Amino acid sequence: MHVPFLHLSATHAEIADDLREAFNRVLQSSWYIQGKELKEFEQAFSAYLGVTHAIGTSNGLDALTLALKALGVGEGDEVIVPSHTYIATVLAITRAGARPVFVDSDPFTYLLPSDAIEGFISNQTKVILPVHLYGQVADMQGILDVAKRYEVLVVEDFAQAHGASFNGQKAGTFGVVNASSFYPTKNLGALGDAGICTTDCPDLAKKIRALQNYGSIEKFHHEVQGYNMRLDELQAAFLSIKLLFLDQWNTERRSIAEIYIRELQGVGDLSLPFSHPSARHVYHLFVIQTAFRDELRTFLASMRIETMIHYPTPVHLQPAYKDLGYAKGSLPVAEKLSQSILSLPIWPGMKQEEVEYVCDGVKLFFKKRTTKT
Ligand SMILES: *Cc1c(COP(=O)(O)O)cnc(C)c1O
Repeated sequence: MHVPFLHLSATHAEIADDLREAFNRVLQSSWYIQGKELKEFEQAFSAYLGVTHAIGTSNGLDALTLALKALGVGEGDEVIVPSHTYIATVLAITRAGARPVFVDSDPFTYLLPSDAIEGFISNQTKVILPVHLYGQVADMQGILDVAKRYEVLVVEDFAQAHGASFNGQKAGTFGVVNASSFYPTKNLGALGDAGICTTDCPDLAKKIRALQNYGSIEKFHHEVQGYNMRLDELQAAFLSIKLLFLDQWNTERRSIAEIYIRELQGVGDLSLPFSHPSARHVYHLFVIQTAFRDELRTFLASMRIETMIHYPTPVHLQPAYKDLGYAKGSLPVAEKLSQSILSLPIWPGMKQEEVEYVCDGVKLFFKKRTTKT
């Protein structure tokens, strides 16, 4: 058996006709940017989340950039962020001209721990930027409490947590403005690049709309120096179709995760994903930890099981950020995670035999290890 890391055609097969019909509709409309497909998707997505404004963007990095720029974040400001994230979160901060202040992650949830933030707040801190990594929402109650106490803003990066929630409230609705990606592999993915900003504040929504469209609300009148960071009609039409399936696909991801957790509990030295009791995890990724990560990965590859590492180098140790001056050892949890985490295959439509084959592979690896020593 060959188990790929991800199998997008499994999810696209059931909606292929709808996608083709959407393509034909947009083709025939002769209207490709800033039209009714975008408006419809923005309305559907904001209704899905329970937020008043959603502004489609070109991708996730641009959405994060727009969120920070709309808040006026720039030179001299600090943004508190986990180092254990995809680099795009941090690129948005430095692109806005601000300084990232890295906080180490919780070793079990892999997320920004709300009780560690306080020690990193200075009078330059403008924003706390939690990332709902792997499909689980960070402790938003704790994070919002700290933010309120110190009068700083919260911006969520919910690129990996479409449909996830905390105390029943969906990711992407907690911060003053939030940002997400619809990169094809995300739980809700376009067939190309796409992203979104969400907010309940009409002024921020207006600012983001202007910034993403050359700084213009009224044609040929430019209030600010803006960008071109728009979501096109074709991707919006595809996303509207896929949004209808998001809950079903997330439920499938959760059932696959349940099988993994049941089968892999107590195997070897494995640490399984820890789900906060208030959080509804949507398992964008299923990430385990073991001291024997590289050997396990090689062994699974020999069984034709594909795995990945999200992410092999924490952002504070990336060459791109060496000027920030973070030494090796400065964020021990993030650094240890980068050495010990492994993402197992998971996708909606993954067959039970495939999940069991992966579990058998992992168990066999640890069985061989114990009989060797
Ligand atoms: C995918 C991702 C991004 C970047 O999104 P793009 O659309 O690829 O720019 C940002 N943050 C996180 C956590 C992501 O997973």
